[in-house]
Amino acid sequence: MPQKTKETPMMEQYLEYKKQYPDAFLLYRVGDFYEMFYDDAVKGSQILELTLTSRNKKADEGIPMCGVPHHAIEGYIDTLVDKGYKVAVCDQLENPADAQGKMVKRGVTRVVTPGTIMDKTDQAKENNYITAITANNGKFGLAYADLSTGEVKVTSVSTQLDLTNELQNLDTKETVVYGTFPQKYLDKLRKLGILISKLDELEENYSFDFSQVTSDQEVSTVKLLISYLIKTQMRSLDHLKAAQPYEISAYLAMDHSAQSNLELFKNMRTNKKSGTLLWLLDETKTAMGSRLLKQWVARPLVSVDKLKRRQHFVQVFLDNYFQRSSFQDYLTKVYDLERLAGRVAYGTVNGRDLIQLKTSLEQVPEIKSILLDIGDDELTAFVEKIDEVADIRELIDKAIVEAAPISVTGGGLIKEGFDEQLDKYLDASKNGKQWLATLKAKEQEETGINNLKIGYNKVFGYYIEVSRANIDKVPEDRYQRKQTLVNAERYITPELKEKESLILEAEEKSKSLEYHLFDKIRKQIKDQIRRIQALANILSQLDVLQSFAVVSEDYHYVAPTFIEGHQLDIKNGRHPVVEKVLSNNSYIPNDVNFDDSTDILLITGPNMSGKSTYMRQLALTVIMAQIGCFVPAESAKMPIFDHIFTRIGAADDLISGDSTFMVEMREANDALKNATANSLIIFDEIGRGTATYDGMALAQAIIEYIDKNVKAMTMFSTHYHELTELESQLPGLRNVHVDASEENGDLVFLHKVLPGPADKSYGIHVAKLAGLPDDVLTRASKILNNLEKTSVHTTLSEEEAEPIEVPEKKPEKEETLKVEEPAPTADDTQLSLFPEPKAPKKLSSKESQIIKELTNEDLMGVTPIEAINLIYKWQKKL
Ligand code: ADP
Repeated sequence: MPQKTKETPMMEQYLEYKKQYPDAFLLYRVGDFYEMFYDDAVKGSQILELTLTSRNKKADEGIPMCGVPHHAIEGYIDTLVDKGYKVAVCDQLENPADAQGKMVKRGVTRVVTPGTIMDKTDQAKENNYITAITANNGKFGLAYADLSTGEVKVTSVSTQLDLTNELQNLDTKETVVYGTFPQKYLDKLRKLGILISKLDELEENYSFDFSQVTSDQEVSTVKLLISYLIKTQMRSLDHLKAAQPYEISAYLAMDHSAQSNLELFKNMRTNKKSGTLLWLLDETKTAMGSRLLKQWVARPLVSVDKLKRRQHFVQVFLDNYFQRSSFQDYLTKVYDLERLAGRVAYGTVNGRDLIQLKTSLEQVPEIKSILLDIGDDELTAFVEKIDEVADIRELIDKAIVEAAPISVTGGGLIKEGFDEQLDKYLDASKNGKQWLATLKAKEQEETGINNLKIGYNKVFGYYIEVSRANIDKVPEDRYQRKQTLVNAERYITPELKEKESLILEAEEKSKSLEYHLFDKIRKQIKDQIRRIQALANILSQLDVLQSFAVVSEDYHYVAPTFIEGHQLDIKNGRHPVVEKVLSNNSYIPNDVNFDDSTDILLITGPNMSGKSTYMRQLALTVIMAQIGCFVPAESAKMPIFDHIFTRIGAADDLISGDSTFMVEMREANDALKNATANSLIIFDEIGRGTATYDGMALAQAIIEYIDKNVKAMTMFSTHYHELTELESQLPGLRNVHVDASEENGDLVFLHKVLPGPADKSYGIHVAKLAGLPDDVLTRASKILNNLEKTSVHTTLSEEEAEPIEVPEKKPEKEETLKVEEPAPTADDTQLSLFPEPKAPKKLSSKESQIIKELTNEDLMGVTPIEAINLIYKWQKKL
């Protein structure tokens, strides 16, 4: 920062603060504006679209400067923080008039960062997590908190992969680390868009409940997090709940790509909630319930007991429709208790918030009695734990007026009868007003000025106003002129002034007393925050469970049975989201069956037949089962899974710049290394990101490895038809295919999954439907026939397969390999088809054009959909 010339005292003060917050935009209050200077101004003016000006314009090097009006500051802070920046707000701590020519005292009153921003109403249904991480001997500590709800959790993980997965799954915007945290990890986290905040000095003086945390590293991670929160928030953090340790192994693991591939929270196309599992399941009535549901979906359980308990509650809500719907009605009137509790602790709560708190608490006795009325033992035991927090409800009811104003300093918020002294003041000011009315009537009568008025303004206080036409009637001896307007004159009288000070004093005192009383009430509530949070916790669980009942009823789901052992049996299962989106019950249900001896279902079928949907259907069913919801099927028996691995779609990892194929292989590697016999693996078209033989060889090797070493339940879809022959070699592999048929020249997708491999010539069927010239089709069929005849064994047994890994380096094996090589797929057939020198007929120019385009097309770089679009384009040209 340039500092060559001597700065004015104000700029010196500015630079002093800026030094303390080098990584934040410092918004520095000057008069009615918050100003930014130097680099902050240059950058800030761009981001916030403000005019960049210059302070000290006369000097050679003016100081870049831009500002925002003080009343509009929140919007600007939100914009900066949304974009991942920190903001430190430096306020005037005294009235400039009192500074008497000296520098106005200022101080940073808050620091807002992406992880600590609160009260953004558009995010009420989401948690905003700030995290802290520590590294110690290859182990990582990870703590997280949501400042607005007070939740604090901590865990340890032993790999970097687990660490990044947790951070990504928490969708954290900001991570706090010690200055010594290894740089190499930080770069990776920054690439994921996580803001890194470094902190070296821990805070010492605060009280916080660490009692449940046993590991030293975890304690130190939580301390780091709390220290950062204290440093940035500069106020009470009493609402932070005790730190709760958790183990990632207590949950069904899903890495971030699985969560996004399965579209649990975000639709991949639109990036919105609509069309996701969360969207489907969310029939919650409160924001707290909605947040908890999201947490449950992100962390399905592995404990059968806990799941059975959730299922039981869902069943109870299903069996008791009337109680459920009246419970919902009351729940709808419950506001966000967690966030209200946070605002109480923070001191940002106002009268309206307290009325919301009261309204929420008023619903609780009703809710309790409705649920007890159901008479289910387990539910009764749970509901009896509810503390109605009646004392707080009564306190607010006695103290706060129903239509409380937003401001807590302007009066009008404490009820009459709550405080004797306040009542006296209120009376005085009320009487004063009465007195003024009497005075007006009296003066009108005495002077004969009928339109004489009594008014008030800040400069002159109360005055008597006489219109110009009546000025000659003014009793000059009593009235003292104070102000002249165009059409009127304003006067005061000694009597008026005397009463004025009484009225104003009463008003002033009553306002400050009201504030004082409000603050006292706030503190009384703050002492009971734990009870409010406990209530919030029970209500949000009940909210999620009723939501499960609603969707289970609406879409006819069944309770899954959890079984021991390696078996899974789903009858007439459906993909819950596709089913909901498709109109008029047109979803075709399908069974999924893994018996004792099956690890792998190899799924073949034409593009768009429903392979991917079938696989996702199982993954979503497993997740729904393991969060305690019912599942979309006629019946479902399944084991408890420990981990879901996916490789779906062809999304490039844009952040790290890896190619599709690299991402594909990395995800495959992750599954092969970490999956157990209790995991679920979903591989959609593994190997399609590279050349055909390469891809097929890898796909086969991966399947064999799973069958031999991993034994996880695996669904593997492929367009390498040759792989279906593996069924005869691998006892754990079973072929299924998705059926399609031809009706009146149309390819009809039946979406029905049947045993056995798919018909191999469907590629040519599709080409026919697309209207390719008959000559081409006949020729393709012929080539296919020939290929089938020449490839004796299309797949290689394990020993035979060995040399395929390095064919180029061992040309002497070429001969043997050729015989054994897998038959080319439909793609290759087409590739070799067109350069064929003996074309049966001379081609038209349009046809040659198409063939040219086809030859130039990089087939490995197109998705099946793009391929169909290409065919469509060519068909149009013909
Ligand atoms: P593939 O993976 O075989 O290319 P998809 O699974 O993407 O095919 O399915 C293509 C489309 O077919 C889906 O978008 C869906 O609308 C529809 N579909 C898939 N399975 C079914 C089903 N069982 N019932 C009805 N429609 C289905």
